[in-house]
Amino acid sequence: MKVYMDYNATTPVDPRVAERAIPYLKKDSFGNPSSFHTYGQEARAAVTAAREEVARTLNAPAHSVLFTSGGSEGDNHAIKGVFFARREKGNHIITTQVEHPAVLGTCEWLEKVEGARVTYLPVDRQGHLDPQQVAGAITDKTTLVTVMMANNETGVIFPIKEIAAVCRAKGVICHTDAVQAMGKLPLDVEALGVDLLSIAGHKMYAPKGVGALYFRPGTPLNNLLHGGHQEGGLRAGTENIVGIIAMGEACRIIREDLEQDRQRLTALRDRLENGILSGIPHTFVNGDRENRVCNTSNITFEFIEGEALLLALDMAGVALSSGSACASGSEEPSHVLQAMGLKPEQARASLRFSIGRFTNAEEVDYVLEKLPAIVTRLRALSPIAPH
Ligand SMILES: *Cc1c(COP(=O)(O)O)cnc(C)c1O
Repeated sequence: MKVYMDYNATTPVDPRVAERAIPYLKKDSFGNPSSFHTYGQEARAAVTAAREEVARTLNAPAHSVLFTSGGSEGDNHAIKGVFFARREKGNHIITTQVEHPAVLGTCEWLEKVEGARVTYLPVDRQGHLDPQQVAGAITDKTTLVTVMMANNETGVIFPIKEIAAVCRAKGVICHTDAVQAMGKLPLDVEALGVDLLSIAGHKMYAPKGVGALYFRPGTPLNNLLHGGHQEGGLRAGTENIVGIIAMGEACRIIREDLEQDRQRLTALRDRLENGILSGIPHTFVNGDRENRVCNTSNITFEFIEGEALLLALDMAGVALSSGSACASGSEEPSHVLQAMGLKPEQARASLRFSIGRFTNAEEVDYVLEKLPAIVTRLRALSPIAPH
């Protein structure tokens, strides 16, 4: 049996999405949307329709949706775009210690190269951030607050609505990385009150290499890519038509299936989590179990090397990730779990289970059947485990 429980790393493409996008890989529908002729017009109409689908799903006007190459580009564009556009006003950015590397790396680069000052707010043991911490960190030099909507390692949901309200009251622009929230929570940019919001296709059953950035009309935002006048002049380059069509369809499906997916995944995730907690001693869940997206469970298996557990699970046909930021190559234990107060060895003993639209009960039960023996075997080899 093969079981994929790493949906937070990437999702398979939904067959409905593939079916909608595949004609644009074939020789009849290949036009450049910037071309005047009918080939171009057809491509342009398809992009317009996809943009409307994305916009509708976010409750945004269509002209406020910019197609990107994915989550990293959306985060880069939002953060650098606002930083450069508001340089005259100030150089201070506020973010958190638990953001995705796409946000942290961008902020660190701005500090090193462009003279930015960045405040990295801490979180508590449950992974929570208090909006009052954001309010307290804002100075007259603050131009941007960027806080993720849901954490990719723990699934913990941040109070973005309250944070956006704090920002608005102080004239500060608010961006949220909603890559891990899309398709798991209803996202409404008006209800949230954010100015910028990024999403990624391959975390929501569309292909890799496409994403979208919502920007509230009037938000000061510089270009990253210069050249042609695509995307309302905000992003040069001939559009990724196949990816964009897929994004549109993936969004339409989210509007249709969100509630049903959420209920099903919550039940499956809880069955998996409760099975592990009750079946395997010395395990605990990281992050607030109430205030979490429906598909994620981050669990510490004390006295075990997470890498060894991942390897053993992979051999049993089960694919998932450690809590580490860069699952492969990086020896550093997860910055997210350490920011929440876990000891490095606990962070290293943690795994992220992330299920999705194609996960079923048989797969959950297979993991519950295999895992206890693997954990027992690894602990038997561990010099620090209680025997
Ligand atoms: C995956 C992810 C990203 C990066 O998206 P890419 O499309 O891979 O560039 C950014 N933020 C979060 C929270 C993510 O999970």
